[in-house]
Amino acid sequence: MNRGDLLHRGKVKSVWLTDDPGFCIAEFSDTITAGDGAKRDELAGKGALLNSISSIIFERLAEKGVDSHFVRKLSDTEMLVRRAELFALEVVVRNRSAGSLCRRLGLEPNMEIKPPLVEFFYKNDELGDPLLTKDHIRMLNLAEESQVADMERQALAVNQALQQIFGAAGLDLVDFKLEFGLADGKVLLIDEISPDTCRLWVKGTTEGLDKDRFRQDSGDVLAGYREVLRRLEEGA
Ligand code: UDP
Repeated sequence: MNRGDLLHRGKVKSVWLTDDPGFCIAEFSDTITAGDGAKRDELAGKGALLNSISSIIFERLAEKGVDSHFVRKLSDTEMLVRRAELFALEVVVRNRSAGSLCRRLGLEPNMEIKPPLVEFFYKNDELGDPLLTKDHIRMLNLAEESQVADMERQALAVNQALQQIFGAAGLDLVDFKLEFGLADGKVLLIDEISPDTCRLWVKGTTEGLDKDRFRQDSGDVLAGYREVLRRLEEGA
């Protein structure tokens, strides 16, 4: 599959057209950002690590019957994906309290959330990705009501499957962010699933192996990501 024109350059990933209009190439860079890009660094080898992790996760999700845009890993830093029109939404699923939920609601971290919480955020850097109610989504015309319901259903199915996948690797899935797009009229899971987009704690502890190390300057970010990959490849 040949790389064509650049379709989209994100803060961390770029998406390229291919000679087949139904497919794109997603390329991971070594950039890491937090706080809507306010904090930023380059970590050599990060793109390859996240491409490997995301590819393994999408493959294992497919084995469990969870569909996504992922077709196959193409190179160290690229994956072939189905083309989709993305919704300007971020869908967050939470199994334990952390991050912005604690700040917003004044909660202690690490409280169990059962059933899991699904939240929608507006993918809009200028506004700082605000939390949205379903009425806001309707008002802003960001997705149809049935599409929102579909995203919620898929997000909870992804959560169940991811809890098994990470659980087998000795990791607790605290929370994560998903993105969805529209392909052939259907709501499709897109983007990446990695320690950049998930909070992953060593089972039974609050030791994070994820991007919180970068957000909080609390440890070796790449060492955490390497440990996630090792655990996924070899089991805990
Ligand atoms: N997240 C993400 N991209 C974003 C915002 C959040 O991948 O733009 C992920 C984040 O890594 C965490 C989950 O979504 O796993 C919930 O993040 P939260 O709302 O707590 O925001 P944070 O405090 O991490 O900025």
